[in-house]
Amino acid sequence: MAKIFGLFTTVAAIIIALLSIAFLDFQVHSFSLLFVIPVGSLALGALASFGYFRWLIKQGYKPSGRNYLFGLLLAIITMFGIEYGEYMITYVSPDQEINYRFEGKHIGQYSLDDSGEPVTFLNYYSYKLDNNSMTFSVRGNRSNGVTVDTSREMSVVSVIIQGLGYIIGSLACGATIGDSKAHCQSCKRAYLKEHHLFEVDKEDYESVLVDLNKMISDDNVFGFSDRIHKQKELNTKVTANTKYDLKIGQCPKCQEGYLIERYYEAKKGKSYEEDTAQRKVTHLSRGIVADALKTIGEA
Ligand SMILES: [Zn+2]
Repeated sequence: MAKIFGLFTTVAAIIIALLSIAFLDFQVHSFSLLFVIPVGSLALGALASFGYFRWLIKQGYKPSGRNYLFGLLLAIITMFGIEYGEYMITYVSPDQEINYRFEGKHIGQYSLDDSGEPVTFLNYYSYKLDNNSMTFSVRGNRSNGVTVDTSREMSVVSVIIQGLGYIIGSLACGATIGDSKAHCQSCKRAYLKEHHLFEVDKEDYESVLVDLNKMISDDNVFGFSDRIHKQKELNTKVTANTKYDLKIGQCPKCQEGYLIERYYEAKKGKSYEEDTAQRKVTHLSRGIVADALKTIGEA
C-alpha cells in the first residue's frame, strides 16, 4: 500500500515537472541556486517519495534500509520519467519551432542532420547535453536570470548534481518525516503510538518526574497511574515559553511501552517547536503501561 502511495506522488512529481515545461516554459527539475544547489530536483525528489514514507510512518513503521532503497528507486524513476517525458512532449510546430504542447509533429519523426537516423530518446538526450544552456537566477530575483551556454562536461556535471538532488530530496523526506516520531528501542522496527498524558511547565515537570521516576524504579503500577491521574485532574494550562509534553508511547509491533518526555520552546511569539535533542524516552514495565493506558481511557 505504501508503495502505491509512493508511485502516486512520484507520478505527481513527474507531471508537475512536465506541466511546468509545457505551460510555464520553466524547467523546474533543472532549476538550481548558486549553480550547485539543485533546489528543483531536491523538491521533486522529496515530493516523489512523500507518499511512500508518509504512509509507512503513519502505519507505525520506522523506515529501514530497504525502505530507503525504495525511496532511491522512486528518485531514479522520477528523474527518468521527467527526462523521458520531456522527450515525449517535444514537438516541432509547422513553423519549425520546438514546443512542448503537442503542436506539429513529434521530434521522433525527424532525423538528426542528414543521417536519416530518427531522433530517439537517447540521441535526443545526448544532443541536449551538447547544446545545453542553463538559466540561473539570483536568489530572490527570479526575473533577473543569467543564461549560459555550457560545454558537454559541464552539462554532465549538472546532470549528476541534479540526480543527487532527486536522491537526497527523496531520502531526506523519509528522514525528516520520521524525525518527529519516537521509535521503539526494544525491537527498533516501529514508531511508537503516542497517547497524550498532560503538559507541564518546568517547575511542575521536575516534581512530577521525581514522583514518576520513583514509581518506575519501584515498578509501582498503581502509584504511577495515580500520579498521572492527579496531574491530569489539575488540567493546568501552560503559558510559559517552554513546556514539557508527557506521553505514553506503545510499540504497535512488540507492545513494549515507554514514557516520552518532549521539551518545547516557543519561537518568538510563534507556535511551540520541539527540541528533539532534549527528548527523553524511558522504558516502562508492561504492568505500568497497561494500567496507565486504562487510567487515561486509551485501553
Ligand atoms: Zn517494538
